[in-house]
Amino acid sequence: MMRCIFCQNLSGQLKVVEHIIPESLGNKEHFLPPGVVCDKCNQYFGSKIEKPLLESDYFRHARFRTETPSKKGRIPSISAFLFPTGLGLEYFIDKEGNRGVAARSEKDVAAWIKYLETHQHGNLIILKPKRSDEKLFSRFLGKVAIEVLAHRYIKRDGWLEHVATDPQLDPLRRYARFGKGSSFWPFRCRRIYPEDHAFVDDTGQFYEVLHEFTILYTRQKELYLVLAIYGIEYAINYAGPELEGYEMWLRENNNRSYLQMVEAS
Ligand SMILES: [Zn+2]
Repeated sequence: MMRCIFCQNLSGQLKVVEHIIPESLGNKEHFLPPGVVCDKCNQYFGSKIEKPLLESDYFRHARFRTETPSKKGRIPSISAFLFPTGLGLEYFIDKEGNRGVAARSEKDVAAWIKYLETHQHGNLIILKPKRSDEKLFSRFLGKVAIEVLAHRYIKRDGWLEHVATDPQLDPLRRYARFGKGSSFWPFRCRRIYPEDHAFVDDTGQFYEVLHEFTILYTRQKELYLVLAIYGIEYAINYAGPELEGYEMWLRENNNRSYLQMVEAS
């Protein structure tokens, strides 16, 4: 029997692995075995937190730009419209990597075809994506934070039970799983490298980093998750809804990224 790190129930029927970062954001290697997160919590996070985030304009655009396929192998299309007609279009990348433009809805197909037959060119307008829902995103970060802790201690005897029962983690797990407690758990975000930045490994190969994470333990004995997705670094406090300790750490370290300091060491 294992105790779920979110709802803290002991559960018998466990089938699904929990991806710390959704597979559709390019995560193939970081997951927790069945039981660490119970099936019910796994489903909740998948459908109520991750799905709306992944379908938000913000992540659709980022996945489109970086050509990150979903676990079904599809790259999300983005909405566009034709200027000056206002015709609703969809800008897409197919499975072979070809880019194309299609009418967004059935009723516009005829108008789109007519336009193509009668015009040599036109202007495709793509609106800047709105930021994703901040509360949903901070609950997602809370989920990732607890899971990263479990991931780190999974091989140490008794430590997983500790992650599941430590009362210091209760406010964050309740906020992430049930949206309770704090009305908003703040997080820090900033760009630390370009979205499509290519890194070079020891053998001279280029590679792209879609996401990376680590845990920062400050002098004041505070614990922070530091996570980067598409070059944007996010930080969230494990113990409470505040960021003063992290702001202080940034000042003391000349605003360097802890992710890059860990990498370099
Ligand atoms: Zn659970």
